[in-house]
Amino acid sequence: MTRQIVVANQKGGVGKTTTAVNLAACLAAMEKNVLLVDCDPQANASSGLGYYPEEGDLGLYDVFFQSERVQDAIRGTDLPYLSLLPSSQDLVGAELELADKLGREFYLRDMLESVSGKYDYIFLDCPPSLGLLTVNALCAATELMVPLQCEYYALEGIAQLLKTYTLVKKRLNPSLRFLGVVLTMYDKRNRLSSQVKNEVRRTLPDHLFETVVPRNVRLSEAPSFGKPVISYDIRSPGASSYLALAQEVASRPPGRRA
Ligand code: ADP
Ligand code: MG
Repeated sequence: MTRQIVVANQKGGVGKTTTAVNLAACLAAMEKNVLLVDCDPQANASSGLGYYPEEGDLGLYDVFFQSERVQDAIRGTDLPYLSLLPSSQDLVGAELELADKLGREFYLRDMLESVSGKYDYIFLDCPPSLGLLTVNALCAATELMVPLQCEYYALEGIAQLLKTYTLVKKRLNPSLRFLGVVLTMYDKRNRLSSQVKNEVRRTLPDHLFETVVPRNVRLSEAPSFGKPVISYDIRSPGASSYLALAQEVASRPPGRRA
């Protein structure tokens, strides 16, 4: 069965896109068929994989209301097992257009239904809000992954997200599971980082990934070359951490945890 993993946190700059792109790439390198869906109008996941739309190219916005064309919008990447459903700025319009539609939470889910069987994993990279695009991604997913930057009030920040998760699970998508929290931009010399880690471990004991992603300049450079970090610098600490995280995700079968 396809594992559909939504990467969400309503805060910007916490490592959602970096995590979605690099996890997708690492699992593709493990010869899993992976689709990355860029649900953020800022389109960072798309440009991070070297894709810049040209006139006439279809993106997520175009197929949001014409789901029969979804296959035409999916494109290959430099990695043979990794495909991309790109975003573009006009996706902002989808949020507005969805607002008064019946069943507005389920457009993305229904759109992906016809292609999901082709993939082992589908990653959904979310915008930094809990608006309708993120809710659509939560409804299209089977698992929720939350990147958390180690800073003050990090946990308070995800309380709202977990509330939304609980509501969506209760009312809209009962099969959604909470896969876990991954700590990003971790600095082991900084005491705050280990304090946050201990706090997350205490609050969400079954939901913290062993793998911690360190702050690593290679991770921030790679997108400007349009590459995931394993293609840009396989020997970097950033590449090792996302490879380890991919192993952990692959070995954590859906449904094992609440
Ligand atoms: P989000 O998608 O949550 O807004 P991003 O993944 O775009 O966050 O990350 C925000 C910025 O931090 C980007 O410039 C990204 O390259 C950088 N970044 C993310 N993770 C790391 C890391 N582990 N080490 C160094 N820089 C990182
Ligand atoms: Mg992002």
